[in-house]
Order: sequence, then structure tokens, then C-alpha cells
Amino acid sequence: MLWKTHLVLGAIAGYYAYPSWKGSVIGATMALLPDIDQARSKLGNLAKPVSRAVQKGFGHRTITHSWVILLVPSLLFGNSPAAMAALWGILSHLISDMLVGRIQLFWPLRFGWIGIPLSKRMYSAIDQIVFYAALGYIVYTGYQ
Ligand SMILES: [Zn+2]
Repeated sequence: MLWKTHLVLGAIAGYYAYPSWKGSVIGATMALLPDIDQARSKLGNLAKPVSRAVQKGFGHRTITHSWVILLVPSLLFGNSPAAMAALWGILSHLISDMLVGRIQLFWPLRFGWIGIPLSKRMYSAIDQIVFYAALGYIVYTGYQ
């Protein structure tokens, strides 16, 4: 999925784990974290040296799209509502990436590639649908 789709999904996931504006912000921010393995991504652009190193060392959708990344929330936030928001933000990224492609969830095991591989056209179509549905959902629930 594209960064803006991960952002809105992460905001929703973070809010449900930690119902507050903080939960949304943490979830949305952490939902961008796995794509640090791509120098061309939104986060990759901000942290270019780190991003280049991860991309070169591991490749895209490997270590940062695996169980390893799920350890980050408790390292950053301990055992707190913020950690839950971060965890669900990251999970929203992994799950949505699996809907449009494959990730190495059980890195470093080679059989760990899991997900639905789609054509570029299908990927874009589903990304757009999910983005606008998630945005619509936020606006709808925001007005209630
Ligand atoms: Zn990703």
C-alpha cells in the first residue's frame, strides 16, 4: 500500500487500541515505520542513511515487515496504551501489505513469504479503494 493508505489505516488502528488523539497519531506514525526499508518511501526519505542501509542489507518487505518489527512498540513505549496503539499501527501496515503483496513475516526463514501477490494495476485499484474507504470511515465516525 502507499504511505497515505498506511497512514489512515494506522490512525484508525491506533485509535481503537488507545481511543484518543494520541492513539491516532501514534498509530498513524508507526504505520509508516515498516517501509523504512525503502529509500523512496515517505519515511525512507526522512531517514535516508538508515533506509538505504536496511534496503541494501535486507531488501524490501523483509525484516521490517516481520515479527521483528512487532518488538519495537514495547521497546519504545514499554507496557502502555501508547505501545498498544503503536503495535496496532504496525499490524495494520503488515496486514494491508499482505492484501496486495507478499511480506516475509517469518524472516529470516525463506518460506516466510506470506500474502496475496497482485498485479500492479490491481495493487493500485485496491490501494485507492482502501484509502477512500478508510478516509470515509474517519469522516463518518468523526461526525457522530
Ligand atoms: Zn510496507
